[in-house]
Amino acid sequence: MSIYSGPVFAMAQEQFNLVADYIGIESEHRDRLLYPKRAISVSIPLHTDDGQTKVFQGYRVQHHLTLGPTKGGTRFSPQLDVGEVAALAIWMSWKCALAGLPYGGAKGGVACDPNSLSVRELEAVSRRYMQEMIPFVGPNTDVMAPDMGTNEQVMAWFMDTYSMYKGHAINEIVTGKPVAIGGTAGRREATGRGVAHLVKRALESIQLDSSRSTAIVQGFGNVGSISAYILAREMGVKIVGLSDHTAAYYDPAGLPIDVIERYVAEKRNLAGWSNESAIDPSELLTRECDILIPAATEQVITATNASRLSCRILAEGANGPTTPDADAIIEERGDIFVLPDILCNSGGVIVSYFEWVQDLQRLFWTEKEVNDRLKDILNVTLDRVIRRARKDGISHRVAAMAIGIEKVREGKKLRGLFP
Ligand code: GLU
Repeated sequence: MSIYSGPVFAMAQEQFNLVADYIGIESEHRDRLLYPKRAISVSIPLHTDDGQTKVFQGYRVQHHLTLGPTKGGTRFSPQLDVGEVAALAIWMSWKCALAGLPYGGAKGGVACDPNSLSVRELEAVSRRYMQEMIPFVGPNTDVMAPDMGTNEQVMAWFMDTYSMYKGHAINEIVTGKPVAIGGTAGRREATGRGVAHLVKRALESIQLDSSRSTAIVQGFGNVGSISAYILAREMGVKIVGLSDHTAAYYDPAGLPIDVIERYVAEKRNLAGWSNESAIDPSELLTRECDILIPAATEQVITATNASRLSCRILAEGANGPTTPDADAIIEERGDIFVLPDILCNSGGVIVSYFEWVQDLQRLFWTEKEVNDRLKDILNVTLDRVIRRARKDGISHRVAAMAIGIEKVREGKKLRGLFP
């Protein structure tokens, strides 16, 4: 029995076992690779603006420390539990290893709805969460970053809280910070830029012209919105579908991305933007497009809708959007070029790594250097995934995960088992 349960953890486990079968990991070595090194659970009390006291649950799961410190985002979302956080930490491990970053995976978060908190309440929750985590994190132990429901401002509060306790500025404790306090140029756009770059490569591979292709983006947070902007503005892709947690829109003639950007800047979400193009959010993913980008949450492409997907490229901006059942259907269909999550959204953590390196060296790069190096890593990694998939006749997901898992396995084998 472990403390990890729920559908998302079960999915991470199922994916791992599929890959472990393929690369031949003996059952006695599976638990050592799969189960997290440690999980921290804390209660976070808050004085609310209306004078009450509320307690939120916070978590941090550190998957493995074999290759370096752990690395991963902090998520603020209402239904968060330790099983989901553990799955996300495990996926971070395969993602970092696949990209060749010297990290294990981690993930953390607070079960709260950040949209229902005032700025003062959000700051208090963020600071108390970091304060509770001080004994367990550090620039050489575990480095946090943004994820769903958190942003640069939350990272600035984390960095300040940690630094105040230590007595001096420690910029390298988190990544995804504002540039003014040691963040890197290009980090805010990095995940979306990576998604767009890989989509460009996928379009080339199936010989589709970007200026004649269409995209649907599910989720309009940092990853979804920036992916949509870069696809539309730099690649000439027509965005035909968009959604967030409040609304979904589809128009085969194209949605006006600039108008929508201004609308969201003012209203904070997509609700009420248009009556004509509004659709039932559950229909968005199966509408017709060339490029489908789930950039919201886990398990949205399932056995129920996988056979009805009407796209040529599936670019997973989110972590874990496609269930193993859906994977089997997509593989059987054979007509969709899949950019699996641990590759597709790895631009974020790759540029986080650049930020950490720059902070440690106190030497900062230009945005061009950041973007060029990001593209270099993504190109090499995509090529490796495609080659491996072709060679062994496996899906891109299995190939990507296999490369990541093998790297961690080798590290554990070389270091041996203490004592
Ligand atoms: N939260 C992001 C992810 O899921 C970024 C993590 C990081 O930059 O450390 O990959």
